[in-house]
Formats: sequence, C-alpha cells, structure tokens
Amino acid sequence: MPAAFLDRLASLIGAQHIVTDAQDMEPYLVERRGLYHGKALAIARPANTAEVAAVVALCHETDTAVVPQGGNTGLVGGQIPDTSGRQLILSLARLREVREVDLASNTMVVEAGMTLAEVQQAAEKAGRLFPLSLASEGSCTIGGNLATNAGGTAVIAYGNTRELVLGVEAVLSDGRVLSSLSKLKKDNTGYDLKDLFVGSEGTLGVITAAVLKLFPRPQSIETAFVGLADPHHALKLLQLAHEEAGNAIHTFELIPRIGIEYVLRHVASARDPLTEPHKWYVLLELTAQRRDGVADTMNAVLEAALEQGIIEDAALAASLDQAKQFWALREDMSEVQRLEGGSIKHDVSVPIASVPDFIDEASAAVLKAVPGGRLVPFGHLGDGNIHFNLSQPVGADKQAFVARWYEINAIVHGVVARYHGSISAEHGIGQLKRDLLPAVKDPTALDVMRAIKKALDPKGIMNPGKVL
Ligand code: FAD
Repeated sequence: MPAAFLDRLASLIGAQHIVTDAQDMEPYLVERRGLYHGKALAIARPANTAEVAAVVALCHETDTAVVPQGGNTGLVGGQIPDTSGRQLILSLARLREVREVDLASNTMVVEAGMTLAEVQQAAEKAGRLFPLSLASEGSCTIGGNLATNAGGTAVIAYGNTRELVLGVEAVLSDGRVLSSLSKLKKDNTGYDLKDLFVGSEGTLGVITAAVLKLFPRPQSIETAFVGLADPHHALKLLQLAHEEAGNAIHTFELIPRIGIEYVLRHVASARDPLTEPHKWYVLLELTAQRRDGVADTMNAVLEAALEQGIIEDAALAASLDQAKQFWALREDMSEVQRLEGGSIKHDVSVPIASVPDFIDEASAAVLKAVPGGRLVPFGHLGDGNIHFNLSQPVGADKQAFVARWYEINAIVHGVVARYHGSISAEHGIGQLKRDLLPAVKDPTALDVMRAIKKALDPKGIMNPGKVL
C-alpha cells in the first residue's frame, strides 16, 4: 500500500515534493522540546490549495491519517505523528502567497505557510500592523497560529488570534474546500464556521488561507523594564496602568529574577536591565496613534507607582536598540530554560485578579513535592496567563525529574481548578493534554466537540489522537 499510495501522491504534487528519506524526515518528526518523536509514511509538501485538497482526498479514499504541520513550533505535540509510521505529515510550508491587501477594509488575505514574521512584514510594507506577536514568530506559520488560536504578548491590546481573523479557507477531511474568505465585519448568516477551524489543532480540516485584520501602526512606543517585589505588586501596577494609560497598554509581561539570571548566564549579549537586582520584573509597553507620544503617560504611570511604593525601580528604553534588549530578555525565556536542564511546564490561566495568589499557592505546593526545584513562573499577567514552569533542582537527574511531569501537572492543575482557571491558556491540547481534558471540561461541551468532529471527519483521518 505505501508504494502505491506514494506513487499516486507523486502524481498529485510531484515526487520532488514528497520527503521519504529518513534523515530528511527527521526535523518534521521531533517536537522541539524532545517530548515527542513520531514516525511518518512521508512528508507531503503541496504548493497550493488545490494540491492540498487533492492530497486530503487521496488520504480520505485510502483511510490514511493526515497530520497538518506548519512551523513545528507547537508545544503540545499536535503537529507530530504517532509512532505507527502510517500517518502522512502534510506540510503547509509551500503555501506562501499574500493573495490580497485591502487598505480600505484593513484586511489581508494570506496563505497558511507564511511565517508569522513574514505576515507582520507584509502588513508593515502596506503601512499597517498585524499585531500577533510570539517569541517563535520567525518559524511558526500563520496557519499554525490559527490552528492553535495562538496568544502571545499583545493579547492585552488586540486579543488572541481568533479576534484577528475575519475569514478562513480550509480543506475538509473529504477533500472539499470550504471557502469562507469573508472580509465582512458583520455577517450573521448562521453558524460562524471559521471559528470552528480556529483552535481546532488540525483535527477538523487543513487551513490553507485566512483573511486577517490589519490595524494602524502605532506612532509612538514607550518600553519600560520595571523592578518590583512580587506578583501582588505587579497586579497593582497593572491596575494603575489601566487607570492612567487605558487602552495604550500594549504589553504587560511578568518575569521572575531567576528568569533574568538564566538569560544573563546563557546569552552573551544580555545585560541586567536595572542597576540592582529585583525579585520580580514587568516588561511594560505603551503605544499610541498620536505623534505627540505616550512618554508623558508612561512617566505618569511610573511616577505614581514609585510614589505609592508599588515598584522599586524602572528603566525606560532610550532607543529602539534598548527596547529590543528589553524584549530579548523576555523572548529568550523559553530557550534558556532548556539550557538549565529538565523543565516541567504549564500554560495556565486564572482570572487576572487571582494570578498572584495562584502563583503563591502553586509555588508552595510544587516546592513541597520537589524540594530544591527552581520555579520560573512568567508570562502574560495582563491576560491572566502564566507559564508556570519548574526547572529541575541543580544537579538532579534530568530523566528522573521529567518523569514526574504528570505528577507535578496534577498539583498545579489542582490549584488552577480552585481558581476556576484553564489548563491550556494558549498552547492548545494536542497529545500532551488530551488525557487531562475529560477531567476539566464540561461533559456536555465534550459531547458537542465529539459530535462536531464526527460530522466533519467521519472517518477520523484528521490528526487522530489529538485534542479528543
Ligand atoms: P505547528 O507546530 O506546526 O502545529 C501546531 C498545531 O496546529 C498542530 O496540531 C498542527 O496539526 C496544527 N496545524 C498547523 N498548521 C495547520 C494548518 N495549516 N491547518 C490546520 N492545522 C494546522 N504560543 C502562543 O500561543 N503564545 C506564545 O507566546 C508562544 N510562544 C512561543 C515561544 C516559543 C519559543 C515557542 C517554541 C513556541 C511558542 N508558542 C507560543 C507555541 C507555538 O509557536 C504556537 O502554537 C504556534 O501558533 C504554532 O504554529 P506552527 O506553525 O509552528 O504550528
């Protein structure tokens, strides 16, 4: 069957666009954290929507499972096939066109395989902003961003990916193309099908293109690195910033001192942002459309925060270069944890007001279970989304530590549940959290999800074993 299948696949997309060599397949088979290592029948790299549709139709006919893959930066194993060697990875990497930019409607139609950085650049070239921003933006694709409903560092100002999408083109499990590339802001003609595909992690169909919303580019940006005592003070700063700066807040990211120390240890160009070390930091960015700037607003926030004893110190970026250095401290956080040995991760959210109490409670519970563990809770405080990560104790055995992944998850997720939070704020479910879902999701909601899956993918060929 594989030889016959591969021959037919070659007739659809060209043999040169099918990867079967073991060494060449390897980068598609491994998740970057090394948590998952799959096998595949082959990697298919179609060039356009028609070819994607033809490949999926062939898979439908032959009962072949399809694993859509964009930039392979997903953090829950959704893009990695199982170990049977019978699943086909469908890479969207060759679908890279900007199909249209409509400045009057403030929309852009892009194909799924463009990296997020390329989409941002295309928007910039058109004099607009596409505000989705992630540390993985150089490699992740816009199709993957939609499929995972990615969050990132500008959610506080612009919302998740879902809020940045007006329309979607997707190939269904039988090879039909659902063309819902609507630019309409208002369209109440029944169920919103695009929203089914956003966040579906490749389990309902293959996203091939999307209509994205564009925004005016900010005329002024002020970036500050703030030192403070703890997350409780960070929450007070957030409230103060809301009162003083309103919707000028573009980013509000929480970082513990240990995270800065990791970056200083592993990134030669990194500099301590403030003269003295502080236990916690906030990266605060304000933006405005006005040319007269937000410097006064930023100064008012920081002065009031100093006066009220909310913050201990702050540095304002004096140049674009310095702002980039501040941002690099935040963006290097994921990579440097890997260099510190084993790391057990959580991508959770709780109501914003509960974040400090959640961090206190989860920290105490985790350290009781892992004395000497190094806590690295960081992330999007402004959205209530914390990456509650735990680095192995210094000198501990990495394998033995990582083997405790689900035990530590249970402790942290128990605290999340008490605060009515979510066990997956922005990374999705994939395979990593699939078995955790039934315990936290309303049973009726799960039934509805299964019914939708069955209706759209009756043969169960779309990314099986993920999410449900
Ligand atoms: P992949 O990893 O290839 O796939 C992810 C999932 O989407 C899989 O289930 C796959 O099957 C499916 N999929 C991919 N493309 C398609 C398609 N065209 N049609 C249908 N299904 C598809 N995520 C955040 O939300 N916020 C962050 O701040 C963030 N920061 C990160 C920082 C780093 C350093 C890294 C490595 C990752 C980070 N991520 C973050 C996670 C990841 O980058 C996002 O989930 C991203 O959206 C995945 O895009 P991708 O193209 O790499 O998708």
